Amino acid sequence: MSEQLLATYAAKESLLGRNFEEEKPQGRSDFQRDRDRIIHSGAFRRLEYKTQVFVNHEGDLFRTRLTHSIEVAQIGRSIARRLRLNEDLVEAISLAHDLGHTPFGHAGQDALNTCMQEHGGFEHNLQSLRVVDLLEERYAAFEGLNLCFETREGILKHCSLENAKKLGAVGERFILGRSPSLEAQVANLADEIAYNNHDVDDGLRSGLITLEHMSSVRLFAQHLDAVRATYPQLADRRVVHETVRRMINALVTDLVAQTKSNIQRYSPRDIEDIRQAPSLVSFSAEMHELNRELKQFLRTQMYRHYKVMRMSAKAHRIINELFQAFMADPRMLPPQFNPDIESERARSVSDYIAGMTDRYAIGEHRRLFFVGDV
Ligand code: MG
Repeated sequence: MSEQLLATYAAKESLLGRNFEEEKPQGRSDFQRDRDRIIHSGAFRRLEYKTQVFVNHEGDLFRTRLTHSIEVAQIGRSIARRLRLNEDLVEAISLAHDLGHTPFGHAGQDALNTCMQEHGGFEHNLQSLRVVDLLEERYAAFEGLNLCFETREGILKHCSLENAKKLGAVGERFILGRSPSLEAQVANLADEIAYNNHDVDDGLRSGLITLEHMSSVRLFAQHLDAVRATYPQLADRRVVHETVRRMINALVTDLVAQTKSNIQRYSPRDIEDIRQAPSLVSFSAEMHELNRELKQFLRTQMYRHYKVMRMSAKAHRIINELFQAFMADPRMLPPQFNPDIESERARSVSDYIAGMTDRYAIGEHRRLFFVGDV
C-alpha cells in the first residue's frame, strides 16, 4: 500500500530511524529492507528446525517456527491491509518475532531461563531483539541487522521492567506504560490467531486431541457444525481444514471490526496518539471469551499431554546439561562463544544454546556426553 493510502495513525517510513545511520534504500521502503534483511539472516533459516509444539523429527507436516512465522505474517498482513496500516512493517515484525526462540519450544526457553537465573535470566522476546541488534554478523559497517526502531519495538513484545531499563529508547514504553504502534499490536494478535489455529490442526493430525474432544470448545463447535451441515459427506481431514479456515476468518473479521470501532472511539490523529492510547487492536468481548476458552483447552489437553510432557522433560535435561557442561569447562565451547572475560561467559553460553536448532542441540548433547561421538 502506498504511503498516501495509509491511515494517518499508521507507522510511516521509519520516523525514528536506525541505530547506525544508513542511506535510504533504493526501490524499496525501509520496512521492506528490514523484512529482506530478516529473511537473509541465519537465525531466520534456523527457524525451520526449531520446535513450535512438535519437535521437528516427529513429522514432516507439523508447524515449525519457520512455517509458524510465515503464517503469522500472512494473517498480520491481511489484518493490516483492512485497517490501512503498514503491511510491510507488520510483515517484518511477524517474520522476526520468534528469532530468539531456543530449541524445543517453551520447554527450552523455561530450561534456559532457569539456568540463567543467577546471570540475568533468559527471555525469548529480548533474545529476538538481541539477535537482530547484535548476534547476526552479516554486515561490514554494523553489528546485527541494524533494523528500524519501529521493527525492533514490535519484536520486543514483552520485557521485564528491569531489562527495559537497560534497553534505551526501545525499552521506554514498558517503563512509561505506553503502547507500541498498531502494526506491532497487529503482529502480536496475528501470532495468537496463528498458533491457536495451527495447534488445533497439528493436534488433530497427531491424534493428541480428537474431533470429539474439540467439540467441547464453542468456537470450534460452531464452525464444525456449520461445515458438517453443509457438507455431510466430507472426509474428516477436510472437515478439520474447513473448520480451522473458518475459525481464522471469524477471528480476523472480529478483530478488524472491533479494532475499527476502538480506533473510532479514540480518534487518534497520528502514531503519537496511538502510543499514548491503550492497546486498540483487540477482539470483541464475546470473541475474546471464545478465544480464551480455546487457549485454555489447548493448554490442558495438548500442551500438557503426556507425550508433549515427555518431550519437554527431555528438552529440559538436554538444555540444562549443555549449559552446566559449558559453564564448568568453557574450553569445550567453539571459540567465538568463549569470551575472554569471565563475567560474560553465561550470556555467551546462553546465546550459543538459544541459537541451536532442535537437532543441533541433540547432536551437541550426544557429542559432549557419549564416548564415540565427537
Ligand atoms: Mg510466535
